[in-house]
Amino acid sequence: MKRIYLDHAATTPLDGDVSAAMMPYFSEQFGNPSSVHSYGREAQQAVDRARHMVADVFGCLSQEVIFTGSATESNNFAIQGVVRNAQKRGNPVHVITSSIEHESVTSPCKQMEREGVSVTYLPVSQDGFIDPTDVAQALTEHTVLVSVMYANNEIGTIQPISEISEIIQEHNLKTKSYKLKTVFHTDAAQAAYFLPCRVADLGVDLMTVSGHKAYGPKGTGVLYVKKNTELIPLIFGSGQEYGKRSGTENVPGIVGISTALAKAVADRDETGKRIIDLRDHLIARVCKEIPGASLNGSQKERLPGNANFLFRGTRSQDLLYMLDEEGVAASAGSACQSKALSYSHVLHALGLSEKDANASIRFSLGKDTTKKDIDSAVSILVKSIRKLQE
Ligand SMILES: *Cc1c(COP(=O)(O)O)cnc(C)c1O
Repeated sequence: MKRIYLDHAATTPLDGDVSAAMMPYFSEQFGNPSSVHSYGREAQQAVDRARHMVADVFGCLSQEVIFTGSATESNNFAIQGVVRNAQKRGNPVHVITSSIEHESVTSPCKQMEREGVSVTYLPVSQDGFIDPTDVAQALTEHTVLVSVMYANNEIGTIQPISEISEIIQEHNLKTKSYKLKTVFHTDAAQAAYFLPCRVADLGVDLMTVSGHKAYGPKGTGVLYVKKNTELIPLIFGSGQEYGKRSGTENVPGIVGISTALAKAVADRDETGKRIIDLRDHLIARVCKEIPGASLNGSQKERLPGNANFLFRGTRSQDLLYMLDEEGVAASAGSACQSKALSYSHVLHALGLSEKDANASIRFSLGKDTTKKDIDSAVSILVKSIRKLQE
């Protein structure tokens, strides 16, 4: 049985060139970058080169690139770091985020709430977009952080980051004389492979990316930290990463994520277009051939690889299991994160009922996905849904 992997939003395979770039740092080039001898210097040079590569991708200074252990860590660092820094002043602290963020943003926000911070969770439209005017309305003199994701992991919608940035910059200008600057963070974990991540164009102060969502290694992340943005570290120690993230550097991982991000920039025009065509072919076939099927989220302003469908009258867990038996790997979006909500908070935010949310499935295409993969997957899907509906 040929297996068809349509879960690239969960993780991507390691790119061959990325793997090759990493290999020497597992063996002969094993030095600790902090050591003064040549082993150490070679490792330090590799980390420096990697940092320059990422800085090129983001259009930022290399000192603004902080390597972390995951996008989850980057998001926690951004949120907890900004909040803790603001708390030093003793004023009330307010954070704005959206109702469709990844758990690695939502959970630290919930924790900050338990620690006395007030958090606004902005709603989204039925097709999955944040309205920048809602951000304008939510901003107060106590708002220290706005965190809005660049592209959603479940439904692939791309948020108007630069428009939101303009609103925050205006707010900062108006309140400059009497308050701490409102910092703007975006979680670009899903976006980094497909979309431009130039920080000046986006207008962000903090930006999270993940290695393994962009054909890089798992357990690697970056947080872009704009110069003069104050953050209290999560991890204290010997002062690596400009004192922002102590611990001996994951040299192979750092080489891996930087190679992957640079390669994404080089590849994305061509692969993005190809994947959009395949994705639209998938959407067209599914909506035509499966009665009652519909797309969750907008078809415009959507990540190239993402298609999330509602198959009315099915249960996604049953369907996923049947698909897997036929070799098709898909996903039911992310697991529930609060006990009160037994289904996807993202689909809930779109207004889907529990039943419909639990009848939804995400297919996420990657750079190796072929038309044949899509056609076989649709045939298997049609067959499985027929069986389920019997
Ligand atoms: C996968 C993902 C994360 C977490 O990334 P890790 O590197 O696995 O911690 C965060 N945000 C979004 C939007 C994601 O898709």
